[in-house]
Amino acid sequence: MARIIDGKAFAARLRAAIAAEVAVLPFKPGLAVVLVGDDPASQLYVANKARQTVEAGMRSFEHRLPARASQAELLDLVRRLNADPAVHGILVQLPLPPPLAAAEVIAAISPEKDVDGLTVVNAGRLATGLPGLVPCTPLGCLLLLEEVLPEMAGCHAVVIGRSNLVGKPVAQLLLQRDCTVTLAHSRTRDLPGLCRQADILVAAAGRPEMVKGDWVKPGAAVIDVGINRVAGAAGKARLVGDVEFASAAPVAGWITPVPGGVGPMTIACLLRNTLTAAKNQEAARVGEPG
Ligand code: NAD
Repeated sequence: MARIIDGKAFAARLRAAIAAEVAVLPFKPGLAVVLVGDDPASQLYVANKARQTVEAGMRSFEHRLPARASQAELLDLVRRLNADPAVHGILVQLPLPPPLAAAEVIAAISPEKDVDGLTVVNAGRLATGLPGLVPCTPLGCLLLLEEVLPEMAGCHAVVIGRSNLVGKPVAQLLLQRDCTVTLAHSRTRDLPGLCRQADILVAAAGRPEMVKGDWVKPGAAVIDVGINRVAGAAGKARLVGDVEFASAAPVAGWITPVPGGVGPMTIACLLRNTLTAAKNQEAARVGEPG
């Protein structure tokens, strides 16, 4: 039976370590979150981010724009945040309501403040092995894996999903840890057979309970990124991952639950990125000619 990777407890420890480091800084890191429209899931997520930012001793700046906001208004706000020295991190909550174009908005964020790690500069830094800001959920996956598998070199890692937000950066991070990485996606042939070869299996497809127990190599570390809302008993919605936990847990060596696995790591890693960005920006400011 797999050992459960407790992401909730790990994230709490990470947040506590961040708060301890923030407490002794001579400045306060600041995170600005931009929310456009009134999507209830995004509102809840943004409120959680704001609360945890303040609990970590940082400043939280919340900017809400109506769903009818124009692309120009949004870009103007991002540019003002880029220029604000109290703001070290900028996060634009995605998805944006149509017809707003996320790519152009992300491109407008200063790479030094891009705490979501989504700009081309930070994606390029990750791909070429340079230090930069790494997307939060992939960073969370890596930290959980490092906790249970301190030595990953030579492991075969199969990552299901090739999004810029999760799959691709997870694959890059595992490659940096000397894993042999296979990036699977919706057109991959014989996905179950491929998964059965994986010492590390990361599922980020957004397909409820797609990965069954007989897809899992005995003893493998299984990281379930999926967050899917499905109808449960008595019509009540429940959250499930991309892995069928009941059949996978008896086979895997390690497994993350949903909820309580990767999910809590995302905001904790956002705080970590904000701290990193703030330290880098303040150090650069000190080095500037007066
Ligand atoms: P996405 O829709 O952008 O990408 C999904 C990827 O999965 C695609 O690359 C696609 O090719 C692949 N895929 C889809 N169906 C497949 C199939 N049947 N077989 C193999 N591959 C398939 O999604 P995303 O933004 O990368 O998110 C993936 C999942 O992770 C979602 O459930 C999302 O809710 C969740 N997520 C969780 C967190 C978190 O904090 N835990 C953060 C981001 C995303």
